[in-house]
Amino acid sequence: MKKVYAVDSSDIRPDVRRMYSPRGAPHEWADWRRHLSHRFPDAEQLGAMIPLSGEVRRMIKEDAGTMPLAITPYYLSVLCGLGAGHPLWKTVLPSPDELHITPYEYTDPLGEDRHEPLPGLIHTYPDKALLLVTQSCATYCRYCTRSRRTGRDVGRTVGPNDIQAALAYIRGHTEIRDVLLSGGDPLMLEDRELDGLLAALYAIPHVELVRLGTRMPIVLPQRVTPELVSVLSGYRPCWITLHFTHPDEITPEVETACNRLADAGIPLGNQTVLLAGVNNELETMKTLMLKLLRLRVRPYYLHQCDAVAGTAHFRTPVREGLEIIRGLHGHTTGYAVPTFMIDAPGGGGKVPVMPNYIRGHEGKQWIIENYQGKVYTYHE
Ligand code: SF4
Repeated sequence: MKKVYAVDSSDIRPDVRRMYSPRGAPHEWADWRRHLSHRFPDAEQLGAMIPLSGEVRRMIKEDAGTMPLAITPYYLSVLCGLGAGHPLWKTVLPSPDELHITPYEYTDPLGEDRHEPLPGLIHTYPDKALLLVTQSCATYCRYCTRSRRTGRDVGRTVGPNDIQAALAYIRGHTEIRDVLLSGGDPLMLEDRELDGLLAALYAIPHVELVRLGTRMPIVLPQRVTPELVSVLSGYRPCWITLHFTHPDEITPEVETACNRLADAGIPLGNQTVLLAGVNNELETMKTLMLKLLRLRVRPYYLHQCDAVAGTAHFRTPVREGLEIIRGLHGHTTGYAVPTFMIDAPGGGGKVPVMPNYIRGHEGKQWIIENYQGKVYTYHE
């Protein structure tokens, strides 16, 4: 039986609807391009929906933050529905805190610029390449690792010639078997652009896998159209890594988007950044991970927030991430436990940091601790 997917617009906030579509035509709510072209609420519009401090208003008016402000009408509707005090607001609104640069913070925390042989092509690991196909996103996250470029024209905008040069580089490097499309958000590209890029990559004999990292199904689920799904499902394997932050992001529209992708056989994973005051509590993280499993999205990474300049107010002690993993492992389904990861500053790569369940070992005897803290001896 053919599945019917509803586009649930019943929860659209009237004030967001008025701003977005004064005539209120329902089909406009499903139009992802229209959402993109209406995604810059100014300080006055936002201030009419939620209380904003004078300093935040000033930062919005003067574009004084580390990144531009952009929120899709869809995501704005979700946030307004959650209320002014909801922690997700912190992830999209500029804050005076981001103007304070603390020691050990960097504009390029992962040293990507040093591993960029061509514009937009990052080659850090031997068999993987990262292709930054755009600098734009539907909604900007204030903790973005690439805030030095994202949403800004900093002379690094990737054009068609750069993409062609990157493809030639990948063709010439037979050790690259895995290409990650990121940005910015690669689903900002039109379907035909994605189709052309995927076709070119899969025409390279040594490219075995293409992955897309995107937050679009969360901040603009209308982007996941049947046409887009048809393009993506035409290339196998094409994995998608989503970026959920909080369980309250899972709405009927987001469920529809994830179901469309999963039903088409597209493998879905998720990475979440641990953020102080947003999702750094065990119950919040557990709820998110279990909801993701129900959506057929496999929790993949839990990231310690990178040391990006101006993000100290988001970073948690490493201990908190370890405690969250300890609170998940053994206490719920193993699939719901992501790998906690620190991206080593300067380009050292991802380092898994897990709670230590080994109390010690001597010869062939290993003293191990289970999820309840009980101690056992394993003989090799
Ligand atoms: S969606 Fe990704 S690339 Fe875009 S601002 Fe958020 S974290 Fe950065």
